Amino acid sequence: MDKDIRELKDCFNLSKNIVAFTGAGLSTESGIPTYRGRGGLWTKYDPMKYANINYFLKDATYYWEFFRDIRYKIIISAKPNKAHYFLVELEKQNKLKHVITQNIDGLHKIAGQKRVIELHGNTREIVCMDCNKTLTMDEAFTLLKNQLPPRCTHCKGILRPNTVFFGESLPQKELDKAISVSKKCDLFLVLGSSLVVSPASHLPQIAKENGSLLAIINIDSTPFDDVADIVIHDAASKVLSDLIEG
Ligand code: NAD
Ligand code: ZN
Repeated sequence: MDKDIRELKDCFNLSKNIVAFTGAGLSTESGIPTYRGRGGLWTKYDPMKYANINYFLKDATYYWEFFRDIRYKIIISAKPNKAHYFLVELEKQNKLKHVITQNIDGLHKIAGQKRVIELHGNTREIVCMDCNKTLTMDEAFTLLKNQLPPRCTHCKGILRPNTVFFGESLPQKELDKAISVSKKCDLFLVLGSSLVVSPASHLPQIAKENGSLLAIINIDSTPFDDVADIVIHDAASKVLSDLIEG
């Protein structure tokens, strides 16, 4: 077994309160591309437009075309991968106390994870901007066959995904909870996040300042590699599989 994996395994054995922080890299093996890093991104649509609130308010059509032609198919066919299920197992053993995710794909919940903090919302939920009625992704996709952008079936308001766009604040309740659990953990485990988007850029620091170990598993380097206790540059699911098998 590699020295790094051995060290990570020792950390897991000693830890009683693990918090996992996950980013887009955790879902690449479920077929969902990242924004950054290798193999990143959809080419035809620009996340600085479809994931930007100012752009959405100006022209909701751009997002909904992207949803209809690209996102819906990717999300609807994505299944949780080994890494998601590893975290579910760790929660069942009561070692993992919370998953904080930046992902909007809902795959942690689909895998059966109970304690998930979705910092950026969930793209499978659609909400009316006027009356707050919620719809499923499938309902929105059906509406899109005749309408662009799709309208609320109750009040005809504009529909939006229940996600945090660039330019919007994070939901306060989720953020407070994420900060609180990061302060209490003894191992803060980063999986597949570039750690450049706020508050990802604060939580590892908060955990460390409160005495936690910090482990980062990411294909590429991150701005926190220098302060982390363990850094492994490899695919998250591979590292976690090595950990179980070792
Ligand atoms: P990011 O796209 O900024 O970074 C992902 C990181 O994962 C990169 O550094 C990349 O090198 C690494 N990576 C890629 N495949 C990996 C693998 N198999 N194992 C380990 N690492 C891997 O993602 P982020 O930090 O989550 O950033 C932010 C924003 O992107 C968030 O706002 C999030 O909502 C959004 N986003 C979400 C999804 C999703 O829900 N699946 C997908 C794309 C973007
Ligand atoms: Zn409505």
